[in-house]
Amino acid sequence: MRIPLIAGNWKMNKSVASAKQFMTAIQGKLPAADQVETAVAAPALFLQTMLEANTDNVLRVAAEACYYEDEGAYTGETSPKALHEMGIPYTIVGHSERRRYFNETDDVINRKVQAVFRNGMTPIVCCDETMGRRESGERIHWVVNQVSAALKGVSAEDAAKIVIAYEPSWAIGSGTTASTDQAEEGCYLIRQTLADIYSDDLANGVRVLYGGSVKPDNIAGIMGRDNVDGVLAGGSSLDESSFIKLANYQ
Ligand code: PGA
Repeated sequence: MRIPLIAGNWKMNKSVASAKQFMTAIQGKLPAADQVETAVAAPALFLQTMLEANTDNVLRVAAEACYYEDEGAYTGETSPKALHEMGIPYTIVGHSERRRYFNETDDVINRKVQAVFRNGMTPIVCCDETMGRRESGERIHWVVNQVSAALKGVSAEDAAKIVIAYEPSWAIGSGTTASTDQAEEGCYLIRQTLADIYSDDLANGVRVLYGGSVKPDNIAGIMGRDNVDGVLAGGSSLDESSFIKLANYQ
C-alpha cells in the first residue's frame, strides 16, 4: 500500500519567525503519518527552528535542495550530509525552478539523487513538462528521459524509496491546475518508466505526486486518481490553515 504524501514547497518565502508560527499552528492538526504522511520543504535556514517547534513530530521537515558533494569548498551550497545529521528525511531534487534558473542539468540532478541516498535521505525528484513540449508531442519522451536520467546508476534498493513528482511547469504558480486526467496520465507515465527500468513490483510501491496549483478545493479530485499518491503544493502550503486543509483532504 502506498501511503499518500502531502508535501509543501515554500520556495524562497517566509522568515524564521513565520516558519515557527506555522509550525506552532499545525501541531495536533495533521493526520497520523501512517495514514497520510505530510512534509514541508523549506529554506535551509529555517529547518532547525522548524524541527524545534515540531513538538508532535508528525510533519516531516524537508529541504528544498542540496548539493551533490557531502562537504568541501562549495561556497553557499547546502550539504546533504549536514541535512541528514539534522534529522531531515526528504529533500526536493530537480525542481523546475532549479532546472530553469540555476541551470541544473539531468546530470547534476542524477548526482544529487545519488548524494541524497548516500546520506540516508529520500529525494523527491521533480519531473518537469512545458506547454511547448505538450503541444509539440515531445512530452512523453521528455518525461521518460528525465526519470531515466535522474535514476542512472541508482540501485533498485534505493529506487524503491524514491518519491517522484510530476510537475508540468505550465501549471506551477499559474493558478491553472492540470486536469485530473492530465495529472493521472503524467503520474502513470512516470510509474511505467519505473517499471521499465526496474520492475512492476518496484513501480507499484513508489509514490508519484502531482504538483502545480494544487489547492484545498481541487486536491480531493486529484488525490482520487489511481496513480496519484500525493501532491507537491507551493503557494497553498504557505498558509497554515490552507496546508492543514490539504493534509486533511480525505
Ligand atoms: P504551486 O507550486 O503549487 O504554487 O503551483 C508547485 C511547485 O512548484 O512545486
